[in-house]
Amino acid sequence: MNNYLKLLPAIHDLQTHPSFGQFLIDHHVEKDYMTSVLRDVVTEIREEIIHGDWVNKISSKEEMTAFIFQKGEVELENRTKYYLTKTINATGTVLHTNLGRARLSDEAIQHVVDISKGYSNLEYDISEGKRGSRHSIVESLLMELTGAESAMVVNNNAAAVFLVLRALAKNQEVIVSRGQLVEIGGSFRISAIMEESGARLVEIGTTNKTHLKDYENAITEETGMILKVHTSNFKTIGFTKTIEVSELVPLKEKKGNLIIYEDLGSGVLYDFAAHGIGEEPIIKGILEQGVDLVSFSGDKLLGGPQAGIIVGKKKLIDQLKTHQLARVLRVDKMTYAALEATLLTYLKGKHSEIPTIRDIIVPIEEILERCKLFSKQFVEKTNEFTIEIKEEGSPIGGGTMPGVEVPTYVICITHSKLSAEEVATELRQHSTPIIVRIKKNEVLLDFRTIENQEMKEMVKAFMLIG
Ligand SMILES: *Cc1c(COP(=O)(O)O)cnc(C)c1O
Repeated sequence: MNNYLKLLPAIHDLQTHPSFGQFLIDHHVEKDYMTSVLRDVVTEIREEIIHGDWVNKISSKEEMTAFIFQKGEVELENRTKYYLTKTINATGTVLHTNLGRARLSDEAIQHVVDISKGYSNLEYDISEGKRGSRHSIVESLLMELTGAESAMVVNNNAAAVFLVLRALAKNQEVIVSRGQLVEIGGSFRISAIMEESGARLVEIGTTNKTHLKDYENAITEETGMILKVHTSNFKTIGFTKTIEVSELVPLKEKKGNLIIYEDLGSGVLYDFAAHGIGEEPIIKGILEQGVDLVSFSGDKLLGGPQAGIIVGKKKLIDQLKTHQLARVLRVDKMTYAALEATLLTYLKGKHSEIPTIRDIIVPIEEILERCKLFSKQFVEKTNEFTIEIKEEGSPIGGGTMPGVEVPTYVICITHSKLSAEEVATELRQHSTPIIVRIKKNEVLLDFRTIENQEMKEMVKAFMLIG
């Protein structure tokens, strides 16, 4: 044991070794950090030797030093690599919540870069030369696109729901249909948010049916709001009845100051339904029915950054803007930049430049072309796999358009020895992780969400599996 301990170099000897200088250059780290990494490596080796766990056959100080640098490099790479990593989404789910939902357009990314790199007029009124408001950044764009009197942006749609309830319905009753008391993404429950906000939930109707008279009968002196929640991540089918906001609006006559609010969840500016995809109502249409407030996410079907957007009556939005919580829930310049660019793209009518929309409405022939292109590269390079192009459906994801599957083409892959799970695990562990779907022990690659320039990397990953 002592013999091995004697082979351990002093930290100073490591610092003056030529490899040390090379490390600092290659890995772009400072001397102190590199030293602390090497010190940890030496400590670990010393412990192993003392505990008799040392199994390496090293017989000289030079070998030991080389070994330490080798381990040091691995350690350094592990400690300094990003947690966030680009992944290839081969699931075909355009709004994959676990994979970051909407990807941003080139315009949005460029605007974020420009604005976050330097100073900007985030809260500065350039024409007046004095303090401005960040609420002004996208308000007029949102008004133009939705027809709303006013608009504001908060951190996400969950924050929007919370702010609306807290600022406008605290200590009052809020009527919600039982079928709309949804849970989104495991942890966000309308009923829990309501409790946190201090508003009192009044559940009406049954899971599958709520009638207008249920709403009417529930209105009391204490009622402050009727909340309609878009059941975005599930569908009730069969014997069902829900009330449209257009039917709820006349109830405002029964009680002064009654607020009708629809949490739209996804909220679309592009009419997917008119293109035969799903039944999502467009925001403008909901507002035209006379609803007071509507909120929706920035990174679901809108295809922008994470944000919660609230549009509706100016009187109410003004109250929200001046509430203390608005400051707590406010968004950063990067979000505003991405959102502004995304909304401008809509205004210009260039919907197809927004990746979320482009990927959802991409012609199926184009997906088939991508499949063919990939299988050509694939077949030339590997032989353990069997591949076949099949027709399938892509879910939209992100808790939107429940039950909707857009026709797509996938490549189904099987391996001569490995199970689909085993192949999927290997693909996940690739340097650029590839996330796939599995169906009937086959790996499915849905080319709706795969870009042509990602194919090379994918072929490489499959080759490594063998
Ligand atoms: C997704 C969703 C939310 C939460 O929105 P986030 O932007 O994820 O915070 C709230 N309500 C409904 C109906 C939703 O679909």
